Formats: sequence, C-alpha cells, structure tokens
Amino acid sequence: MATARRVVEIGVLAAATLLVLRTWFVEGLLVPVRVAGPSMAETFRGPHRQVNCHDCGFSFAVAEDQWPAQRAVVCPHCRAAMADLDPWPRYPGDRLLIDKLAFAWRPPRRWEAVVFRCPHQASRYCVKRIVGLPGERVQIAGGEVLVQGRLSPKSIWQFRQLAQLVHDNRFRHRPTKDRPPVWQSVAGGGWQSQGDGFRCLPRVSAADREQPLAVDWLWFQHPAQPAPRAPLSRPLLVTDDYGYNQSLSRSLNPVNDLLLVTRLVTSGPGELCLRGVTADHQFLVRLQPAAGSGQLYVDGRLVAQWPGGRPFFRQPQQLEWALVDGTCQLAIAGQRIFRHVLAKSALGGESVGGVTAGGGEVSGPSAPWTVWPLALGAAGVEVQLANLQVYRDVYYTKVAGDRGDQEEGILLGDQQYFVLGDNSPRSQDSRQGSGGSPVHRDFLVGPARRGR
Ligand SMILES: [Zn+2]
Repeated sequence: MATARRVVEIGVLAAATLLVLRTWFVEGLLVPVRVAGPSMAETFRGPHRQVNCHDCGFSFAVAEDQWPAQRAVVCPHCRAAMADLDPWPRYPGDRLLIDKLAFAWRPPRRWEAVVFRCPHQASRYCVKRIVGLPGERVQIAGGEVLVQGRLSPKSIWQFRQLAQLVHDNRFRHRPTKDRPPVWQSVAGGGWQSQGDGFRCLPRVSAADREQPLAVDWLWFQHPAQPAPRAPLSRPLLVTDDYGYNQSLSRSLNPVNDLLLVTRLVTSGPGELCLRGVTADHQFLVRLQPAAGSGQLYVDGRLVAQWPGGRPFFRQPQQLEWALVDGTCQLAIAGQRIFRHVLAKSALGGESVGGVTAGGGEVSGPSAPWTVWPLALGAAGVEVQLANLQVYRDVYYTKVAGDRGDQEEGILLGDQQYFVLGDNSPRSQDSRQGSGGSPVHRDFLVGPARRGR
C-alpha cells in the first residue's frame, strides 16, 4: 500500500513540476501586460494624462480618450475647474503582472481582479474582476451584485482592493460658500485642524464629569458634487463619479458603501465614536481606547460588543471602518476587530435621477447623522488624526441593451465566471450580451496585480 501511495505522490509531484516548467519556460511565470482600456479604472488605468489640481493639489488621472479638448478638466477631489489643458503629461496604461500559475493550485475567487483571454479575440487579454462563481445565479440591482438573490459581502480587505478614493485630507481646497470644508465641526467644539489631520482636546476632564460627556463630532461632507439644479432639502451623499471619465455625460448614483481610513492616537480615558448613515440604517461604534473595548449600535440598538483587551491607539495605529454590502466592519492596526452582518441585508434607498438621504430631512448640523454619511466623535478623550481618507464602493450600473434577464439574473454554467469592471459606466463585461458574456474557466489566465 505504502509503495502504491508513494508512486501516486511521485506522479503528482512530476505533473506539478511539469506544469511549473512548462509555464515558466514556455510562457513565462509572471507575464507583464499593459492596460489599454478604461474598464478597470481607477484600479488599473489605461492610457491617461495626469493632472495636478491647482486648488487642492490632488493628482488625478484622466483617460486619454476622455480628455475634454474644448473645456476645463474638473478635479474629482474638490470640483475646481482647470482650463489650462495642454501641459499635462501623457502616460501609457498601467503595467500589470499576471500570475499564470495561481489557478493551477486554487480556484479563482470572488472579488479578485483577473486576466483572461478575450472571448471574441483569444490573442488579446482582458482584465476584469470576478463577482460570480460557477453555478451561481447573479444579478445586478441597486448598484450591487446579488448572488442567489442576496448580497455577497466583501471583507474589509477585499473592499480595499477595489475601493475608489473619494477624499484624502492631505489635499484640501480653499473653502468657499459653494465648497465648504470636507470635514467640519461645530464652531467652538473640540476639533482643531492640525497638519493634514485633526486634533480634539477634551473640553471637560473626564475625571470631573458628573454627567455623560457630550460627543464632539467631526463630519464628512462629500465635496465633489455637481452643482444641484434646485435648492436642496436633503443632503448630497457620495456618488459614483469618476474623475477618470471626464467627458462622459450620465446621471450619477448615490453610493452608501463607504470606507474610512485614518491613523490615530488617543490619550486619557473617554470614548472615540464612529457614526455612519446608509440608506437604511444608522451605525454607531463606541470605542473605549484605554480599555480596549467597544460596542456597535445599529439604529440605536446594541448589536455587538467586545470586552476589554489590549488598549487601542496608545501609539499611532491605523483604523479602517467599512460600511459595505450590508456589513459593518472595523479593523485596527490591520487586525479585524469585528465584522457584523445585518440580519436583513436589504437593498434600499436607491432613487432614480436623484440622491437619497440617510433618513429624514436636514435640520442643520445639530443632527449630523441625517445630513452626513460619516462622522468621527470624541468624548472626554484626546484624539489626534492623520491620513484621513474616505473611499467608496463601486456602483454597478445597468447597461443599455442588456439581455433583459437582469430581473431574474444570469445562471452561470459549471465552468463560468461573471466578471465586471471597476469603472462600471465604461466597462464592457459580463453585463453585456455581446463580447463580454460570462468567462469560461479555460479562458482565465491568472490574477492581476499592478506591476512596477
Ligand atoms: Zn482639487
């Protein structure tokens, strides 16, 4: 028996070795390619120009074929318009490396970017992201991918792979009436701008308190909104705008799925709070950094808590907080603290031709969670924030001339993968009936990552 097993082992090893050798010598193990099209921007960019905003200093890419020759380029970060179009340098598409061996050892995964041979032109490569696996029924509704009729939540790490930058506080514009500061606090509150971040000093010493301390809030207001056509009775949330697609005219969609990233340090007792609003729910995370404990409230109800442990944020540590695909996820210093999945991951809040607010009318900054999608708060604790960034999820748009089967979804065969581009408004992918149907396993080449 032992001998037979050994023979099998040697056989398997020999086959694996042959596969490695064949891939290495005949085809190359890591294949460099250049991106030619717009469909995976801004994760992977095709030929583009790079523009530095004269107001906020943010550097952004604009697709070469979307270069607005007749009018200004608009900064996606702060909405400043720049008319001096000529000097911006041209760049070729991003270089990608394809790991051609990866799928010999493991199956392709949902949410990973892959390169495959284009179904209609096998000599060419295409790059997209896998969202549906063999045998699954996939549909697109409300900007989300539904698998078997339900959201398939990304982990916070998968979210980071495809999240599109909305705002980076290192790049701040000159505030005007039309374009207020992106992060705001109440006048006289504890938050002060400091370097590229903020500092909050407790107004009352926690030791002196008799009543629960008030929370000092710092609110995020999405800056990059087109000018509204009419006075607004409700706030503008984050939309699926792409600075990359400068010349594309379309109506934008509200995006509820956001990621907040910051590096922070705290001192003293007290609480750090994170507040978020989606179309359906209000989230509140309360953290007690000195005790290493915390609680999550959804719509005012305590749904999760974790007991004290190692203190948070004694040293500067990265905080990542995601509201995505019906989940609320928190990571500190790269470690997952919690991942809460809402019992009912319903889609909602989508509106046609407008933007929905997270519940209720706007009454002013006294009710920040009905106005602002994200807020950070401090109560009795000293906080210093740096590298404050907000990202959004991809909103998967419907396509004209689709196969009409999106209501019930597309049932994938046992070797088929459903692929979508991150630049959904400009992507040719599995949504379209022609050319971009689901991709057969045999066409997949390997996972893609950006090369140097
Ligand atoms: Zn700008």
